[in-house]
Amino acid sequence: MPSPTLIKRRLNELGLRSKLRARPRVQGRILAPAGAFRRLPETGGLYFPFYHDVLPEYADDLRRHLLAFRRRGPLVSWSEALAILGGGKGVLAKSGPVFCLSFDDGHASWRDVVVPVLRELGVPAMFFLTTGLVGQPGNLTWDDCRAISAAGFDFGSHTVTHQRLADQSDAEARHEIVDSQREIEDELGIRIKDFAAPYGHPAVDFGRRDVEVAREAGYTSFASTLRPAMRPGDSPMMIHRQGLHPAWPIWAVRTRVHD
Ligand SMILES: [Zn+2]
Repeated sequence: MPSPTLIKRRLNELGLRSKLRARPRVQGRILAPAGAFRRLPETGGLYFPFYHDVLPEYADDLRRHLLAFRRRGPLVSWSEALAILGGGKGVLAKSGPVFCLSFDDGHASWRDVVVPVLRELGVPAMFFLTTGLVGQPGNLTWDDCRAISAAGFDFGSHTVTHQRLADQSDAEARHEIVDSQREIEDELGIRIKDFAAPYGHPAVDFGRRDVEVAREAGYTSFASTLRPAMRPGDSPMMIHRQGLHPAWPIWAVRTRVHD
């Protein structure tokens, strides 16, 4: 049983963390010193950095992150990354890190900021869409999603309502996982085979049941927010991703994406 002092300290830390999330540049400066003991990856491994909203003032910062990754290794599409995990490619055996980018939720900034930067740099990406957000203020419309898909970017599901799956009944979890998939498939006219769990921590935010429901629905990958690098042979039904904010200096990025 944790002591009351410890519980209080943890709650304070949580409060501080959510305040910091609202001020990403400050959060980045606080994280940065810990990055002094880390480096961006140089050895073989598969990394899945991901972002949410990218406001226009952070476009240059996103570009800076992507160029820093690309100096270390190629940025590949989600399906190329899955092929590497499946051992179908020898990329990791002979060289350094490989990066695979994704974005979560459904922000209008994907259309206005993210896609233009990605196209300029020729970087592929996966967009995990929460279908209930589509058409809401500040989020994409289905027409936007169709245009991004037509431009060659990938879409996956990030549930219907962005609830924590671990808190849902079996029927609710199935609705979140399966109905979001069907809706994206109907709207975009493509197969949806990749899923990212909201919040993404196994046991806390989702469980074995949810991975099984996804597998039965025909998903071939399931993304978490566990952070360590992945290697060929690791399961695509437990992808590790590293959550970043474009406002962070590279030193802060190094606390999440490192050897
Ligand atoms: Zn999310």
